[in-house]
Parts: sequence; structure tokens; C-alpha cells
Amino acid sequence: MSIEENLNKIKKNISNNATLVAVSKTKPIEDIQIAYDLEQRDFGENKVQELIEKEEILPKDIRWHFIGNLQTNKVKYLVNKVYLIHSLSSIKLLKKIEDEFSKQNSTANLLIQINVGKEESKSGIYEEDLLELINEVEKCNSCKVMGLMAIIPKGNDEENRFYFKKMKSIFDDLSKKSYKNINMKILSMGMTHDYKIALEEGSNLIRVGEGIFGKRNIVGGMTNG
Ligand SMILES: *Cc1c(COP(=O)(O)O)cnc(C)c1O
Repeated sequence: MSIEENLNKIKKNISNNATLVAVSKTKPIEDIQIAYDLEQRDFGENKVQELIEKEEILPKDIRWHFIGNLQTNKVKYLVNKVYLIHSLSSIKLLKKIEDEFSKQNSTANLLIQINVGKEESKSGIYEEDLLELINEVEKCNSCKVMGLMAIIPKGNDEENRFYFKKMKSIFDDLSKKSYKNINMKILSMGMTHDYKIALEEGSNLIRVGEGIFGKRNIVGGMTNG
């Protein structure tokens, strides 16, 4: 199927209050341009270098989402390039983001990535460490947390649903509280193979790559940024 057919199909499945981020990692500029010409504006990348190269060339009204593991030494390259960083996963990283964005009088919009399946191979913080991180977010001047992100463990529909429900309940709990610099708006969960279930369980931002652009040739899609 073409990028156009894929996009139309997914858009039919999502309601107006959910955002579709087209994950364009490893894909060429031409593919992104096709989606852009079909009015897609949110794109996701998981490598800093790749994001800034694409940002340079493509139209400036694209909203770039950084969805990969973010190394502290690369944070500075994202200032004024990235719309939303989905992968805030440690206090150390938060401090670096605060530092680099404030230096350039910019504000970072962030999602806290939760390792909801407690998988060693994945980044993200554990639920029990959330409050400690939130404490630090409250001290920031240049960081705003807009919600949560998760990459759930591989599993069947029922297992997926379990983790999405768990994320929604963490999201709802935090939404009821009032913290400085935190405004729970975005729940980023769901990818090509599970986005429908994610939406049913309360996701309002899905990140779809192969379901739009076709298979990636390069293995190791979820690697370091
Ligand atoms: C690659 C990636 C996606 C998209 O995955 P698909 O299976 O291609 O839809 C979503 N989220 C993150 C964090 C990714 O790294």
C-alpha cells in the first residue's frame, strides 16, 4: 500500500482528539515530503543527528517529536528544533535539558517515559521513581512536562491492553494532582501493531512508523539517539 493509503486508513481509525505522529526514522526525505503534502505535520525520529538533518531540509511548520533514548551530550542539538521530547527518563537527563534549553532562553516540552513493563532492555523510569523525578521537574524554569510516554513489552492483545490500562491509570492519577511545570495532556502510546487497542485504552497520541512508511530495512529501530 502507498503512504497515502496507509495514512488514510489510520486516520479513519483515530478520532479528532488523538494525534498521529508519523515515525519517519530511517526513511528518506522524499517519503516524509509525501506525507507532508497529505497534510501530515507531526513526525517522529529516534536519533538526534537524523532529526536535525531532516529538520534542516524540510518545511519549518513540521512538528518534530524526539522518541528515542536521548544521550545527555546531544541535548543541545535539539534546542529550538524539537516540538516534544517523549523520552525524559532520568533526573540526570532532566538537569541537562534544563541547562541546555535555559542557556538558549528556550523551553523544552517533555513527556516522561515510563518503563511500564520493567524491561531491562528499555529505558524509561519505573512508576515508583516518578515522584522523585516530578520533584525535580517542579524546580525547573525551562522544562514543561506535558504527559507520559510508554513503549510496552511485546505481547498479545490482552497483554498489550493490560499495560495500556496501567499507563492510563498512572496518567489519571497524576492528572488529578497539581504540580508546578506539569500539565498532564498527552498520553503517548500505541504503535503500528497495537495502536487501536492503545486508543481504546485512552491514548491520545500514537506513534506509527511501518504502518505508514512500510518496513524499515535497518534493524534495531529502537536504539540510542
Ligand atoms: C520505531 C518507533 C515507533 C514506531 O514503530 P512502528 O512499529 O514502526 O510503528 C514508535 N515509538 C518508538 C519509540 C519507536 O522507536
